[in-house]
Amino acid sequence: MTVHSQRFDAVVVGAGTTGAAAAGMLARGGLDVALVERRRLEHAGARWVNDVPPWLFDSARVARPSGAEKQCDREPIALLGNGARTSVRLTRPMWGVDCRALGDRLRREALAAGVTAFERAEVEACEVTAGRLVAVALTERTEHGLLPRQLRLEARLFIDASGVAGALRRRLAALGSWPEPTQDELASAAQQVCAVASAPGARAFLGRYGVRPGEVVSRTGLDSGYSTLAVRVEPGLGRVELLSGIVCSAGRTAGPEMLRRLKAIEPWIGAMEYGGAGLIPIRRPYDRLVTPGFALVGDAACQAFPAHGSGVGAGLVAARMLADAVVHSPDPGRLEALWRYASRFQRELGGVHASYDVLRRFTVGLAPEDVRALVDDGVLSPPLVLSGMDQRMPALDLGELVPALRGALRRPRLAAALFAHAPRIFAARAAYLAYPATPGEGALAAWARFAAGAAGHTADVRA
Ligand SMILES: Cc1cc2nc3c(=O)[nH]c(=O)nc-3n(C[C@H](O)[C@H](O)[C@H](O)COP(=O)(O)OP(=O)(O)OC[C@H]3O[C@@H](n4cnc5c(N)ncnc54)[C@H](O)[C@@H]3O)c2cc1C
Repeated sequence: MTVHSQRFDAVVVGAGTTGAAAAGMLARGGLDVALVERRRLEHAGARWVNDVPPWLFDSARVARPSGAEKQCDREPIALLGNGARTSVRLTRPMWGVDCRALGDRLRREALAAGVTAFERAEVEACEVTAGRLVAVALTERTEHGLLPRQLRLEARLFIDASGVAGALRRRLAALGSWPEPTQDELASAAQQVCAVASAPGARAFLGRYGVRPGEVVSRTGLDSGYSTLAVRVEPGLGRVELLSGIVCSAGRTAGPEMLRRLKAIEPWIGAMEYGGAGLIPIRRPYDRLVTPGFALVGDAACQAFPAHGSGVGAGLVAARMLADAVVHSPDPGRLEALWRYASRFQRELGGVHASYDVLRRFTVGLAPEDVRALVDDGVLSPPLVLSGMDQRMPALDLGELVPALRGALRRPRLAAALFAHAPRIFAARAAYLAYPATPGEGALAAWARFAAGAAGHTADVRA
């Protein structure tokens, strides 16, 4: 069979929001870029509404969503604890973003910048020479039952942006130390936008929780300490948005199952208009993000925020940092250039994610009713919850701590367990500021051991 061979400066595998953004940024920086996607391009990536703090778009230098891309802006949210009534009412610091439209925009911009797309193309094999990935073999399915095309793409830089699939990472296990996420390090999530089948039913639901249309009703701690179920009836009562997420140790399909059960007891929720389900890595980012000629970004790098599995914003920021690091290098796959991305990401966002990973490990181990009690009694105080939603470290000021401490007095056993993790939360952040600035296996292993000690996790990279 004929194999078509082509050469690029960079090959990006995965055309979700992270891969499409990375491809466009590299092409605008002057590189000749290929974008490989196993689905049709217009079906790539997240097909649902994702909540994203707008500051992450600014950080990534990606224009903030507007028009149909932007579903909602900093809506109120009612958090429920053990009772039926609202325990905490906040204004969410995130925007609801239709990721189908965001992905379309980023892919359109990438193509306009000269990116060559290979859609319905799947990576079959990787060619490694002297420890460096030099080419990938692809099978590209064609329309109308014609024989698939065999392709070989050579490049100086390969980027795995294939999400939880880790299509290149898994084939390059010998080059890095990328353990597969465990069941406690993956979340099963589902998001649907549905018609409202009965407006009186929707009104009764809103009345039950004392909320208005547009407001999100959210309960944590359902079938596991790490779980959430949220319902937002849109103003006008035409549609309702549903979101579930739960750690995979409760079952790899537990997220969609939560929505199925919700719809069974709330028959006013009508047919799904769009949405989807999937797994999200919820561990801290991999200790190693690059090897010569190869970089991991987005969910493939475990860059989703561990407290709630939000990966869109961090993936865009990672794409920008990677492009900034390599576009002016004579060899975009040179380890020294790639390391600038790894070091900057770990120092700026990695430490925050590692801190919230401490919290993720704590909540995975809690009984659901204990998590609900933390909400009820205000130990998870509004300022702490808001910092987590905004994907930032909590400020250690009295305004944040006093409500949490007041709550802690009502729930001393749980609060003591939570506060026992506090030193690790802050030590993790500090440890990531010491991520090695330049490449070096010994320095990386020493840092990984140090960070693991500070945060209480197991290092990926060992000496
Ligand atoms: C139900 C649900 C709700 C979520 N809610 C939020 C939220 O509110 N906020 C938020 O920020 N995040 C949320 N997330 C997470 C978010 O969707 C992901 O973090 C984000 O989509 C990751 O983007 P990515 O581009 O890195 O990977 P993906 O979006 O997974 O894109 C990877 C692409 O690679 C392609 N691919 C895979 N394997 C191969 C292969 N072998 N060859 C070629 N191509 C391949 C895939 O087809 C896909 O198009 C949610 C996730 C789910 C499942």
